[in-house]
Amino acid sequence: RTVYVNGEYLPETEAKVSIFDRGFLMADGVYEVTSVLDGKLIDFDGHAKRLERSLRELDMAAPITMEELLEVHRELVRLNGIEEGMIYLQITRGAPEDRDFAFPDPAKVPSTIVLFTQNKPGLANSPAAAKGLKVISIEDIRWGRRDIKTVQLLYPSMGKMMAKKAGCDDAWMVEDGFVTEGTSNNAYIVKDGKIITRQLSNDILHGITRAAVLKFAEEAQMVVEERPFTIAEAQAADEAFITSASTFVMPVVEIDGTALGDGTPGPVSKRLREIYLEESRKAAI
Ligand code: PLP
Repeated sequence: RTVYVNGEYLPETEAKVSIFDRGFLMADGVYEVTSVLDGKLIDFDGHAKRLERSLRELDMAAPITMEELLEVHRELVRLNGIEEGMIYLQITRGAPEDRDFAFPDPAKVPSTIVLFTQNKPGLANSPAAAKGLKVISIEDIRWGRRDIKTVQLLYPSMGKMMAKKAGCDDAWMVEDGFVTEGTSNNAYIVKDGKIITRQLSNDILHGITRAAVLKFAEEAQMVVEERPFTIAEAQAADEAFITSASTFVMPVVEIDGTALGDGTPGPVSKRLREIYLEESRKAAI
């Protein structure tokens, strides 16, 4: 695989970053994942805008313009022959001469940028979408700025492992009795045709797929209500689903052992997945 590191395209075995990189030592970095369908980028502008916001919120310099970033994405897709898959991008606060809690002077320490592709043939035709996911609920003990897409992913990884151990696919995190989001996705329920999902705040990541799906839902005259919901309300819902750049719209069929409806993906989730895939493919660049 050819990867991109600080301005260079290199074979992955030759790509290197410093052991003093603050991404490695302190999880001082942000990331984005953009999906590729038909060799084209889905929602690139949304991801680029959120990246700029994450960097701004953390006082981190962008080492590259968003136009250049688009070119790097396209070049990696081309060099690696990606038809379906993802592009992972990470920017960290770089590698100062020594470990120190204080941020280094950005004029002296440039940020580190790394991109690589993940080839996933069949991503859009995933068997999981036909079957639906089983989720468990766990307490949300992450920090208070979940709207910034940082590489602090230890708790979400632990949540994923708790789900696996329970024979499930993912975990929905709960704070003060209400679902925040999934370990790596936004969470939704459907009741009497109405789509319910938590409103945007610092408590959740502002999903790029979420924004697109809600727009498509409204264009299709579906009713969307942005408010928190509990696990009990979710278990009593007709359907549930998640969204993320790498899963698009993915039905959820079981929550903490309770099947939703007849335990198979519901019509609203299936329709939203179809609309999302069709529309986002049309708009891909
Ligand atoms: N919420 C969390 C915690 C995530 O990690 C992600 C994606 O990685 C999402 C939501 C979905 O965001 P997006 O649709 O931009 O991929």
